[in-house]
Amino acid sequence: MEALPTTTLPKSDVPLTPMLVQYLELKRNYPDSILFYRMGDFYEMFFDDALAAAPVLEVQLTSRDRSAANPIPMCGVPYHAVTQYLTKLLAKGFKVAICEQMEDPTTAKGIVRRDVVRVVTPALIGDPDLVPEETKNWLACVHPGSGEPACFAEVSLLDLLGGEVKSGVVNSLRELIDLLSRSVPKELLIASGDVSWIKDLQNEYPQMIVTKRPVYFEERKSKDSKSLGALKLYLSETQKRADLPHWKHPLPLNEAMSMVLDPTTTSSLEIIRSNSGIDGPSLFRVLDFTLTPMGRRTLKEWLMAPLGSLSAIQGRHEVVGEFLAKTSLADSVRETLSPIRDLERLTTKTALGLAMPKDLVAIREILKRLPDLKERVRKGKAKRLKQISETLDTLTELTQKLEVALEDVAPATLRDGGIFRSEFHPEIKEYRELSHDAKSTIAGIESREKARTGIPSLKLKYSRVFGYTIEITKNYLSKVPPEYIRKQTIANGERFITEEIKKFEEKVVSAEYKLKTLEESLFLRIRETVAAQAPILLKNAKLIGELDVLLNFAEAAKDRGYCKPKMLSHGALTIVDGRHPVVETLLPTGKFVPNSMSLTEESRTLLITGPNMGGKSTIMRQAALIAIMAHAGSFVPAASATIPLIDAIYTRIGSSDDLARGRSTFMVEMTEVAQIVERATPRSLILIDEIGRGTSTYDGLSLAWSLLEFIHNDVKAKTLFATHFHELTLLEKSLPGLRNVNVLVEKWKDEIIFLYRLAPGICNQSYGIEVAKLAGLPKKVLVRARDLLSCLETQSQRGTRARNRALEIHDNQMAFFDAPKPSESRTELET
Ligand code: ATP
Repeated sequence: MEALPTTTLPKSDVPLTPMLVQYLELKRNYPDSILFYRMGDFYEMFFDDALAAAPVLEVQLTSRDRSAANPIPMCGVPYHAVTQYLTKLLAKGFKVAICEQMEDPTTAKGIVRRDVVRVVTPALIGDPDLVPEETKNWLACVHPGSGEPACFAEVSLLDLLGGEVKSGVVNSLRELIDLLSRSVPKELLIASGDVSWIKDLQNEYPQMIVTKRPVYFEERKSKDSKSLGALKLYLSETQKRADLPHWKHPLPLNEAMSMVLDPTTTSSLEIIRSNSGIDGPSLFRVLDFTLTPMGRRTLKEWLMAPLGSLSAIQGRHEVVGEFLAKTSLADSVRETLSPIRDLERLTTKTALGLAMPKDLVAIREILKRLPDLKERVRKGKAKRLKQISETLDTLTELTQKLEVALEDVAPATLRDGGIFRSEFHPEIKEYRELSHDAKSTIAGIESREKARTGIPSLKLKYSRVFGYTIEITKNYLSKVPPEYIRKQTIANGERFITEEIKKFEEKVVSAEYKLKTLEESLFLRIRETVAAQAPILLKNAKLIGELDVLLNFAEAAKDRGYCKPKMLSHGALTIVDGRHPVVETLLPTGKFVPNSMSLTEESRTLLITGPNMGGKSTIMRQAALIAIMAHAGSFVPAASATIPLIDAIYTRIGSSDDLARGRSTFMVEMTEVAQIVERATPRSLILIDEIGRGTSTYDGLSLAWSLLEFIHNDVKAKTLFATHFHELTLLEKSLPGLRNVNVLVEKWKDEIIFLYRLAPGICNQSYGIEVAKLAGLPKKVLVRARDLLSCLETQSQRGTRARNRALEIHDNQMAFFDAPKPSESRTELET
C-alpha cells in the first residue's frame, strides 16, 4: 500500500489567517503525512488531511468559516486520546506528523510557535502502547545492488522499538522475499519505484507502505551501505534525532547461518500464525512459556530463523538440558526474570526522548535485578550460560544514580512533579517544605479568621482557576469584614480573598512553579544519562530474551515430555515415536499416536499413501516441525531423534487459489513446486502433500510421477511425498531409495477406524467414500458412488494387471503409459 498523498493546496476562498499560513508552511515539509496540528487540547487537521482522516478516525468533519463559499474542511481529536486515533490511522497505512506548540500559549507573543516533533509511520512507532508486545515492527530499506559488493540488493532492516538494525546484501529476489517474509515489514524505504522487482515486492506484501526518498540514497557519506545510510537519514527525519543507539551494533542479515523457511513454508507449517486465525494454535503458541516480552519476541525470531550452525545449536541444547536437569538453577533464574518488564522498549523510548518518570523507574527496577541474575546464571555449567553471565552489564553506577534520584513510585507525566526524592537536590527539599508548610499555614489562617469573624462555616479553599479563597455561606455574608475582597459568587455564598492570602499564594505558587521547572530540567538530564547507556541496555535486553527462551524450552520439554535431539552435521534424519507438537496439545492426553520414521541417505524418499483423514499430513508436518524445533535450540516431541543439519524446508501442502494475483489453485501448486525444485539441495527437507489433483487424472498423475522422479534422482533432498495416486507406489521398484509407507486403517463392518500408525507398504484402498460418509454426505450420493466405484474398479483391474506385467517385463523401467525413460523424456523437452 502506498501512503495516501495528502495535498496541501487550499481549495478554499477563505482568507488565510496567520495560523493557517503557519499550518501550510509546516505541512509543506510533510506532504506524505497527515499533519496533527496542536491547538490547545486538540490536534486539528485541515484541507485534504481532514477529508482523508475524518472517516478513518470516525470524527465529525467540520469546516472553518462555514459562511464562505468554499470553507476549509477540518476535524480534530483530543490530545489526551491521541493513542487511539493514531492506531486507527497507522492501521490504514497513513503516516502522521505530530506538530506541538513549542511555547506556552498564555505567554506567547503573536502566533504560538509550533513545530513537528516526530513523524509516526506504520513502521516507525516510538510509543510501545501502539505496538503489541510480541510484535516487532520492521522497516525495510532496499536498494538495487551497485556492484560493490556485487549483489542483487542491499538491505537494511530496522525495528525502532526493539532498537535493532540488520544490514547486509541479498543475491536474488527470492532471497529477498524469504528474508522479508521473516520480518513482514510494515514499510519499505526505496529510492524510486522504477525498478520492476520492487513492484513484485509490493505484490508480495500488499500491506507494506512504500516511502520514496531518492536523495537519501544519493551519496554515501560513511562506510555505511546505501540502504543503511538512507535508513539513518529517514530515521532522523522522522524521529528528529540523529544519535540513536540503534546504529551502534547493526547485525548481519544472517541469512547464510540460518535454515531457509520461505513464506509458503512458514505459513503452511503454521509456525507463528495458525491458518485458522491469529490466536489459533501454532507452533509458537504451544511453545510459548516465556516470562518477558523480550523472550516472547526472541522465541518468534528463533522459530522463524532456526540456526544453521551445529555448535550454536548444540550450545542452546546444552543450556536447555542443564535447566531441565537442575530445577533449582532454572527456578532461581526464572524467579529473577519473571518480573522483568520490557527493557528493550523502555530503552528505545528513553533514547527517543519519550520516556516519562515511571519509565525510568521501571528501568531502574530492572537494573536492580541484574547483579542477582548475573550471579544466578554464573552458577550454570553450560558454556553459553557462562558467556551470558559475563556479558550481562549490571551498570552499577547508573543504577545507583537512578536509585538516589528517583522516587520509589514516579508519575506517568511531567505535569505534576513528584519525580525526585527530596534528598536528591537541596532546592527540591526547600520547595517541598514550603509547600508542605503551606498546608499548616492555611489551617492556621482558617481557624484564626473563623474566630475573628465569628463565622463558624468559614472555609479556606483552593481552586485551579481562582487559587486560594475564603468561602462564606449566604447567611453569614453580613458578618464579612470590610478588608475581604469579593472574588466570585457561588450557589450558596461568596468567595473572598485578602492581602495576606494573596501574598501567601504568590509564595506557594512560585515555589510550586520553581519546583516543577527544576524537576523537569533535572528529569531531562537524567533521561539523557540513561539514553547514553542505551546500547548496553539493549544488549542486556537481548541477553534477557535469550535466557528467557532457553528457560522456556526447558519448561516446554518438562511439561510435554520432549527429548534432546542428537544433532549431526549430515546423515540420516531419524525420529522415534515422534509427535506433532501442536496436534498433540489439541487432543486429550495420551490420544495422539506416536510415529517413527527414518530418512537416510540410502532411503531418502518416503512415499506416503493412506485414506483421507488417516494422518498423512500430520506425520509430514510433524517431521518438519521437529526439525525446526531442534535447529532453533528446543528439545523435541519424540522418544528420541537424530537430526542432521538441514539447510531449508520446502513445502507444498494444501490447496488454495491466489485470486488477488490471478493464480488458480493449480497454478499456485505448480509455482510452489517450481520454486522447490529450483532451490532445494540434498541437505533440504521437502514435504509434498498431494500434487497434480487440480487437473485431469492422467495429466496430474504424469506430473506427480515425473516430479517425484526428478526430486528423487536429481534434487536428492530428503522428501516426504503423500499421494492418493496409488500408481506411484510402483516406483519403489524402479527408484532405489524410495520407500512406500502408509498410514494404517481398519475396516469394521461398514465403519472405518483410523489407527494413525505409519507402516511400510501400500494402502490399496482409498476409503474416500467412507470418509465422505463421516462428513455427512446424503445416503443417496454414497450408495450411487459405491456402485460407480465397483464398476470403475472392475474396468481398471484389467489395466492394472497389464501394467504390473509390463513392469516385470521391463524390469524396473517405466512402463506405465509406455512411459519413456526419465532421461529420454527430459532430452526431448529440451530439444
Ligand atoms: P487428507 O488426505 O484428507 O488430507 P490426512 O491423511 O492428511 O488427510 P491429517 O489431516 O493428517 O490426515 O489428519 C486428520 C486428523 O486426524 C487430524 O486433524 C488429527 O485430529 C487426527 N490425527 C492425525 N494424526 C494423528 C495421530 N498420530 N494421533 C491421533 N490423531 C491423529
